[in-house]
Amino acid sequence: MRKYSVTAIVREAYRYHTGWERAWRSPEPKDEYDAIIIGAGGHGLATAYYLGKNYGITKVAIIEKGWLGGGNTGRNTTIIRSNYLQDPSAAIYEKARSLYENLSQELNYNVMFSPRGVMMLAQTEHEIRGYRRTAHANNLQGVETEFIPPHTVKKLCPIIELSGPRFPVLGALWQPRGGTARHDAVAWGYARACSDMGMDIIQQCEVTGIIKSNGKVAGVDTTKGKIKTKSLGLVVAGNSSVLADKAGFRLPIESVALQALVSEPIKPCMDVVVMANTVHGYMSQSDKGEMVIGGGTDGFNNYTQRGSFHHIEETVRALIETFPMISRLKMLRQWGGIVDVTGDRSPIISKTPLDGCFINCGWGTGGFKAIPGSGWAMAETMATGIPSTLASAFSLDRFKEGRFIDESVAAGVAH
Ligand SMILES: Cc1cc2nc3c(=O)[nH]c(=O)nc-3n(C[C@H](O)[C@H](O)[C@H](O)COP(=O)(O)OP(=O)(O)OC[C@H]3O[C@@H](n4cnc5c(N)ncnc54)[C@H](O)[C@@H]3O)c2cc1C
Repeated sequence: MRKYSVTAIVREAYRYHTGWERAWRSPEPKDEYDAIIIGAGGHGLATAYYLGKNYGITKVAIIEKGWLGGGNTGRNTTIIRSNYLQDPSAAIYEKARSLYENLSQELNYNVMFSPRGVMMLAQTEHEIRGYRRTAHANNLQGVETEFIPPHTVKKLCPIIELSGPRFPVLGALWQPRGGTARHDAVAWGYARACSDMGMDIIQQCEVTGIIKSNGKVAGVDTTKGKIKTKSLGLVVAGNSSVLADKAGFRLPIESVALQALVSEPIKPCMDVVVMANTVHGYMSQSDKGEMVIGGGTDGFNNYTQRGSFHHIEETVRALIETFPMISRLKMLRQWGGIVDVTGDRSPIISKTPLDGCFINCGWGTGGFKAIPGSGWAMAETMATGIPSTLASAFSLDRFKEGRFIDESVAAGVAH
């Protein structure tokens, strides 16, 4: 694959952009692969990429029922941070955040990582205590965060109203190297790199069954026929329970819709990400100028990737006290994705009861930020058969053994 570079842009400008290659191939499936990943979202593609890069396993297929990045990866609000409370969470999210720092150079694809800073507002006395505790824990974990007072919040984000009558801003947990990246570009960058290593990304191909032989994985049934493999990764987010059912085991996962919306584009007015977890809302400004707004999950289980009117009203109403300026904005569009939520709000990266079958899911409302670290850990787990150091705490067994990694505060509404 030809490298993207300044010279390439100049060369193509002279020949009317006729010389660009396709970013990835669209092959027909082969009969057999060394490993198959189901789901071409960010986590599936990153898993395949690190299988190739770190372990030299390149006879890999990534099978996607829709189009790559068309699941939650292309629907999220792109927040990246690693200010979680528990040690295993901080470790994997910080690994991911640090990989994001150089991802554009590594993939030779601009993922537009923008470490503009993320703040989580404290709007109750309880939150002040909680975020101070998180800042102390983060400093011990090597994650750079601090608790900042209201006047620093105002300096970093002048459009915030500090003295709301119900929920005044009392401070914030601030992560200066948190930020955003372009979600599609993350999927496209990994896809291009995987295809370049010889891997097959097979889109518009649904996995309809899992073939077993003597208690082990033997392959998958798909809408494009049977494909054999001895190593299978299920990386399908909101569809995880459906696929686990086909593999013959159950998951402690609920699938619910999470929605977001954007306003009309306006002039730059906010260059940080702000999350207001007490009122259930968060906001940042995209490079196009749209205000990107999100809230909490729907209160019922479902599989429809759609938005709903009540959500716009609830979320905007929640944020208006802190951001009065949004009362004058027109909302442009909204959408939903189906997220996979565990009881302790922590992910699962694990072997499964079916030999040769591994699962990566449970990222719920906040897995975009984890993509590089999750792929790294899942690839190690699949390649070696031993849970990676980053992943060992996130095994399925923790639900049987009661070893929960409670991140309900860090992940309550936060993304
Ligand atoms: C509105 C919204 C806002 C969010 N905001 C943030 C945020 O700001 N920050 C953050 O960190 N996270 C955020 N998230 C969460 C984040 O998007 C997800 O955790 C993450 O994208 C999950 O990636 P994935 O690769 O596991 O799943 P997905 O991107 O959903 O990929 C799974 C893929 O599997 C495919 N698939 C399913 N079943 C089959 C089958 N049978 N055969 C073949 N393919 C199949 C699907 O089509 C899909 O493409 C948000 C999510 C939503 C919905």
